[in-house]
Amino acid sequence: MRVIAIDGPAGAGKSTVARQVSTATGLRYLDTGAMYRCVALAVQQSSTDPHDPESVGRIAHDVSVVIERDAAKLNGVDVSQEIRSSEINGIVSIIAAHTPVRDAMREQQRRWIRDHQGGVVEGRDIGTVVFPEAILKVFLTASPEVRAERRVGQTGGDIQAVAASIAERDHLDSTRIDSPLKPSPESVVVDSSNRTIDDVVAEIVAHFEKVDHG
Ligand code: C5P
Repeated sequence: MRVIAIDGPAGAGKSTVARQVSTATGLRYLDTGAMYRCVALAVQQSSTDPHDPESVGRIAHDVSVVIERDAAKLNGVDVSQEIRSSEINGIVSIIAAHTPVRDAMREQQRRWIRDHQGGVVEGRDIGTVVFPEAILKVFLTASPEVRAERRVGQTGGDIQAVAASIAERDHLDSTRIDSPLKPSPESVVVDSSNRTIDDVVAEIVAHFEKVDHG
């Protein structure tokens, strides 16, 4: 399978970079964070306790989550805006730490890749756990200051509050037991702090062309 895995912390530029890598390579793009965000929204809508692994796991198993290039659908409803709220930012890493949730999402992600015969897949555990056989693994990062500034540029808000929310999510994502955020030993680590998106995309596409044709 031609899978390009792009993992990294919040605000590193994964979505923008992954979309452009998808356009350049012709591989379809999958935002796995949007899948976890849809489950978090379903948890919020049903007033379920996000800390309860069993109830949250049941929701993850039962809901229909469909991620398209520009839309996220929860049970058939376009929730692309709702899943980006600060409330969802506040609970998504809690629900994403539960093993029943991760099992359900992983299965869907693997099915998606089989159906699309590969793809550019961004998330936290794509190269380490979901597709360890990916032909290219990228760990995209940037300094905390740059990541907070970029997020404020995209969504607005107070820089200190945004920086604190990102730090909290990174902490939960990298310290959980099940598939924590960390670079795979085979990944190419790309620090995007002082680089343009175009430059980062060109580097990733060059790596891909080497492994794809080699
Ligand atoms: O990428 P995004 O910031 O939208 O991801 C939202 C959250 O979903 C992450 O902070 C993380 O808790 C969870 N996530 C995950 N594994 C993935 C993708 C996202 O745990 N592969």
